[in-house]
Amino acid sequence: MAQKFRIVIVGGGVAGLALATRLGKSVGKSGRAEITLVDKSFAHVWKPMLHCFAAGTAANENDRISFMSQASRHHFEFWPGEISGMDRKAKTITLAPVIDTNGETILDERSLEYDAVILSIGSRANDFGTPGVAQHCMFIDNLVDANGFNDRFRKELLKAFAYHRELDIAIVGGGATGTQLAAELHKALGLAALYSFGQKPPELKITLLEAGPRILPAFPEAVSEAAMKQLEAIGVSVRTSAMVSGADENGFMLKDGTRIPATLRVWAAGVKAPDVTRKFGDIKLSRSGQLEVRPTLQLLEDDSVFAMGDCAFIADKPVAPTAQAARQQAHHLARHLPAWINGRPLPPFVFNNKGAVVALGDYNGWGTFPGGTVFGGGWLHGLSARMVHLMLYRQHQFELYGPFRGMVSCLVDWLDVFVRPSVRLD
Ligand SMILES: Cc1cc2nc3c(=O)[nH]c(=O)nc-3n(C[C@H](O)[C@H](O)[C@H](O)COP(=O)(O)OP(=O)(O)OC[C@H]3O[C@@H](n4cnc5c(N)ncnc54)[C@H](O)[C@@H]3O)c2cc1C
Repeated sequence: MAQKFRIVIVGGGVAGLALATRLGKSVGKSGRAEITLVDKSFAHVWKPMLHCFAAGTAANENDRISFMSQASRHHFEFWPGEISGMDRKAKTITLAPVIDTNGETILDERSLEYDAVILSIGSRANDFGTPGVAQHCMFIDNLVDANGFNDRFRKELLKAFAYHRELDIAIVGGGATGTQLAAELHKALGLAALYSFGQKPPELKITLLEAGPRILPAFPEAVSEAAMKQLEAIGVSVRTSAMVSGADENGFMLKDGTRIPATLRVWAAGVKAPDVTRKFGDIKLSRSGQLEVRPTLQLLEDDSVFAMGDCAFIADKPVAPTAQAARQQAHHLARHLPAWINGRPLPPFVFNNKGAVVALGDYNGWGTFPGGTVFGGGWLHGLSARMVHLMLYRQHQFELYGPFRGMVSCLVDWLDVFVRPSVRLD
């Protein structure tokens, strides 16, 4: 019997899990190809929600999707592992050993053979080598980071409650991540105060630092201004044109010599590909380490290696690293790879900009349509934009779970409100 075509997808994030699920349901189910998904963690989360996990306003048990469970229901295999190298001649990728928190090696270094490999390993914040940031700041790049931040946040909040002192937090980066995190932390304090046996909540001093002239630079100026006003109305201090020159255990230093004291320091600026892309041999990378691809999402140097999502850079027509672009690229490959396996050419990926939304906790939200029309932010405090933000997440869940399990998952979340506190307390 002829060997099946082997497709390996590395990274089960917004793009990777959507692709594995769709290919599993088509060529995996029909037996035309063997689909293997590899991820360094065991569960998928919708990354645009990470700031909610960091603040503790989303329950991470309900919002995680187990890769093994998803694989078993959708005709693909899952293996845990972190890609550490690629041999394009031998058509293999190397996975680093899986080592648990006690230092025990669970799985040794392994290699996986492929006929086509799709790299979708996402991105992380970029500290641009700013002194002290790597040692003294927290990042919100994945669930481990978000949970780590939440642990620290809850401990510092407890101290602030107990000793009646303020808690200062500084966030660098006025993009969607930093801006939404600032609002979400404020919301989290309000919710935590409901469980504080009537004690007066401590003052939360949040400073948002942005190097550019305005926050949310991807949105029209009117949204940046409205968001800035909304943040200031809830007590967040926003400093634009604030170039950070260093960080230490007490806060940030700005280029103009100002010090911003902060007990908790978050770096949420810039985007770069994971450092491992530099170990993939002689291939062209963008300045931030992303893999340069042709419009077909194939590497410039190799037809059998694809990249999509945040780790990919389409040199001809770059698209911003967003969940929207990542999903569309996954859908493009899911649609065309089955024919490509049979020797048909791949059409180029064309990004269809459907607009963008940003939600500041429960306080407000805005969205834009491609023509520049802005919605949200009105007398309903941006309910429409916040609903769209939530809908995007539900759409993603429905895509992965299917309609029935998607509905059950919504119902479970809704019922959860009656059972659990609305903010993480333990
Ligand atoms: C807090 C926050 C809020 C955001 N809000 C929005 C928003 O409102 N709208 C929007 O469009 N975008 C938003 N984004 C950006 C959006 O989340 C990303 O653009 C999107 O997740 C990219 O999808 P991806 O599949 O490329 O990568 P990811 O979703 O990041 O997935 C990457 C996957 O690769 C795995 N991985 C990483 N390295 C390795 C390795 N070496 N080996 C194996 N596996 C690996 C990771 O575990 C992960 O599962 C936000 C991002 C953040 C952090």
